[in-house]
Amino acid sequence: MNEPRADLDNLRQRAAVLIEALPYLRHFRGQTVVVKYGGAAMIEDALRTEVLKDIVLLDHVGLHPVVVHGGGPEISEMMRRLGKQPEFVDGQRVTDAATVEIAQMVLVGKTNPDLVAAIHQQGGRAIGLSGKDGAMVLARKQSGEKDLGFVGEVTEVNPSLVRGLLAEGFIPVIAPITAGPAGETYNINADHFAGRIAGPLGASKLVLLTDVRGVLRDKSDPESLVSELTAGAAKQMIAAKQIESGMIPKVQACLEALEGGVERCHIIDGRLPHALLMELLTDVGIGTMVVRD
Ligand code: ADP
Ligand code: MG
Repeated sequence: MNEPRADLDNLRQRAAVLIEALPYLRHFRGQTVVVKYGGAAMIEDALRTEVLKDIVLLDHVGLHPVVVHGGGPEISEMMRRLGKQPEFVDGQRVTDAATVEIAQMVLVGKTNPDLVAAIHQQGGRAIGLSGKDGAMVLARKQSGEKDLGFVGEVTEVNPSLVRGLLAEGFIPVIAPITAGPAGETYNINADHFAGRIAGPLGASKLVLLTDVRGVLRDKSDPESLVSELTAGAAKQMIAAKQIESGMIPKVQACLEALEGGVERCHIIDGRLPHALLMELLTDVGIGTMVVRD
């Protein structure tokens, strides 16, 4: 009778995993979580499937995930195919009129519907949008020392369309492309976009998936993970250039979301299978949690 006992132990372990999630499920039921999706977790097929399964599961157990996606590598690839050389300043793309047209075509015409279809393959019900739909996000040219062309910053958020979709049981999947006051198109950094919509959507959490473990004290040392970062400490790390390039908009997005009323923000490693589930439904804290001072 050894076989059945082994099965019982296995069953207990499985049940324990489900039961551990109970307080988290109760806490988050009905709450909105904005997930910024990008990096390797979006490009590699196997990882991508696991992330989308997590999102579908979260939706099925009563959370309201809202996905904001990037797509930098796909934009760069299309630019090269069209004979244009991608150019970056401080991790931000130099975006002339032709480039913003390419960014819109790639993000809204390819990346977004591909993600929507991939969510359907996992049993979810998603709908694809850009910031232009329902005038959800309005933008203007990003101010700053360097002229990056059609790189936008958010001026206004109208959350009613997304709220309506959530109420109807859809998973909104949003490309960070928006219109400016004269109808011109802007490409907005997806981290910033996610950080700015989280508050108006009434999200309790913002989760940014990336290709590193989180914010590192020393970016060349993966062991130097900062598990908890206050807003003040984050600003100091940016000023001291300990946080650079693509990590700057992520940390700023967390600060923007906190200012907008979001309780907690997490920067986590999307290369880790089921990072999202672990962060939201277990007591295992992975990555960097950014909190108010
Ligand atoms: P994503 O595609 O997820 O937006 P990015 O490349 O834009 O990723 O941003 C993440 C990058 O930020 C990391 O790969 C790393 O090179 C860089 N970075 C700069 N400073 C830090 C830091 N202090 N901790 C972690 N990563 C950092
Ligand atoms: Mg980035």
